[in-house]
Amino acid sequence: MRVERVLLLLPTSTYRTRDFLQAAESLGVEAVVGSEETSTLESYQPERLLTLDFLDPAGAASSAVRFHARCPLDAVIAVDEETAVVAAAIAEALGLPHNPPAAASRARLKHRMREALAAGGVPQPSFTLARTGDDPRLLARGLTYPLVLKPVFLSGSRGVVRVDDRESFVRRFDWLSGFLATPEMRAHGGDEGDSVLIEEYVDGREVALEGLLTDGRLRPLAIFDKPDPLVGPFFEETIYVTPSRLPEAVQKEIARVSADAARAIGLRHGPIHAELRLRGESPVAPVMIEIAGRSIGGLCSRTLRFGLGISLEELLLRHALGREVEELAREAGASGVMMIPIPKGGKLKETRGLEEARAVSGIEEVTITAHPEKTLVLLPEGSSYLGFIFARAADPESVERALREAHARLSFEIR
Ligand code: ADP
Ligand code: CA
Repeated sequence: MRVERVLLLLPTSTYRTRDFLQAAESLGVEAVVGSEETSTLESYQPERLLTLDFLDPAGAASSAVRFHARCPLDAVIAVDEETAVVAAAIAEALGLPHNPPAAASRARLKHRMREALAAGGVPQPSFTLARTGDDPRLLARGLTYPLVLKPVFLSGSRGVVRVDDRESFVRRFDWLSGFLATPEMRAHGGDEGDSVLIEEYVDGREVALEGLLTDGRLRPLAIFDKPDPLVGPFFEETIYVTPSRLPEAVQKEIARVSADAARAIGLRHGPIHAELRLRGESPVAPVMIEIAGRSIGGLCSRTLRFGLGISLEELLLRHALGREVEELAREAGASGVMMIPIPKGGKLKETRGLEEARAVSGIEEVTITAHPEKTLVLLPEGSSYLGFIFARAADPESVERALREAHARLSFEIR
């Protein structure tokens, strides 16, 4: 029997190359890296590397079919929404289990997602769509505040802003129009690059659900609480802790709404990452902020372990290869991550207190991912973190405390 081969779609910007390659290695499967650029991976042999244009799913699928004729592929895995669309096209062309490509692109584009959720009756903020060419003064009059403005094709809260009144609407809308007109944004936005989604601002605590779809059935893998307030005007992610401290009944509702959302969009196979806000008191009603056909981003997957220490990446590889993963439950105990916020723009010159942060009880790892030569850009434009702090403990409270304590011991010199 030949060794199984998996195609990993890894944009050069991803943090997760190492974790996926390690997962492939521990499973004994051959990894082929599909990426837009070859330069950073020159050490690879040609049968381990496939250059693909992620902005052209049909072209990427043709390349993958040609590659497959020489080196058969058994699975294809994506890491973000853009590559998820490409993965769906490739898997369809190769006859592998997959999400319908139309569902993957609905999940990538926020207004398409909203339309599908509305058609499926899934609870979500009310919304309307505008274009960057529209007159914000005219728009501002007909809207209810507070609201949220966002581009339809980005992630990581880039370009997402809360607006409380007409005056700031005009200012933020103008800003967003300028941002979407930059060359980088135009390249990735495609036909939808000038779309601006205007949504009702949903007040309430936020959670994230990580789940796995098999033939349309959703298995929740973890629900994360986000204990830091996310009230805007920008929405920088910080702490994720699992298991959730919410009552069992609320967690069930979160899972139910997420399953309904996946169904409404047409996602059927592979990972989903959903973000919901909890509206109201009793009863608490989960409202879908966003559902994506990919697994959790950044290095945050390192908070999750299944069975006897299997990573999320390995679980996803096994699942994509058609292996049984149902019996792999998340480990007992609590874990969490802090995406270290960027205190100010500039270049990271020095990080102090790493040893002290790592010495905090419950802290497993403190990783600084910011490159000293790269300029750190604050939200709403920016797209990165200083790094990640990971903690494990018996309960979620201790995890949260450890993350905050470790963060307090760090200091950053940014110039
Ligand atoms: P992205 O793909 O960039 O993560 P999201 O739509 O998930 O975009 O928005 C990022 C964050 O902004 C959310 O996690 C949430 O905290 C906040 N947010 C977005 N839309 C709303 C909304 N309609 N009401 C309240 N908060 C929102
Ligand atoms: Ca999101």
